Amino acid sequence: MSSLHRRDLLKLSAGGLGVLATGGLFNRSVASWKLYNNETKAYELPPLPYAYDALEPHIDEQTMRLHHDIHHLGYVNGLNTALAKLDEARTSGDYSLVKHWSREMAFHGAGHLLHVLFWNTMAPATSGDNRPTDTDLNAALTESFGSFENFKKHFTAASSAVEGSGWGILAYEPIGNRLVVLQAEKHQDLTQWTSVPLLAIDVWEHAYYLKYQNKRGEYVNNWFNVINWGAVAENYNAARS
Ligand code: MN
Repeated sequence: MSSLHRRDLLKLSAGGLGVLATGGLFNRSVASWKLYNNETKAYELPPLPYAYDALEPHIDEQTMRLHHDIHHLGYVNGLNTALAKLDEARTSGDYSLVKHWSREMAFHGAGHLLHVLFWNTMAPATSGDNRPTDTDLNAALTESFGSFENFKKHFTAASSAVEGSGWGILAYEPIGNRLVVLQAEKHQDLTQWTSVPLLAIDVWEHAYYLKYQNKRGEYVNNWFNVINWGAVAENYNAARS
């Protein structure tokens, strides 16, 4: 299996299209997870890639059952509901609740995808010191944080200091080609996290106020005249490759 190109793995996978949309942000093993059902057009909850008690004693079986079967399922259902409601809005033309359902989609979408990442980046403990063995990852951790020990301290401090319910995230920042530690206090406020941005409009007042004043809708409408769709298509293809 490991000699297959990622594209081939995706073709083999029933849930492949759900993974395609993530632009390579998930690793190969997630390509076999059924995150999305192409027939029902709905997101699905994949089973855990290990037994509920596999992470004992560090994470207990009951916590894993509740977390996966109840909490994660709630995100999947919430995401599907939000998408259905947005579909209804497009059909009826009634966008009076678009703010609410956009927030719901972001909240549940981020929750679904971050939990997939969470499950996938854990494994039963082995004896001895658990640290990365991959040469490139080790080099990147050292380059970005000084040492693995520094990364561990930084990540632990940042994750511990996240206010309320949130996440600590190790991320790759491609412009500076560095690894960064992020705190997500409210994952819905920022992004679905594993979505790849393709096109963006600045709707801060500074972007339109001199010409449009309070009429942001008019600005957005007119902005459609200046979109570089060729660039968007390039971004789309890059995200899927
Ligand atoms: Mn959770």
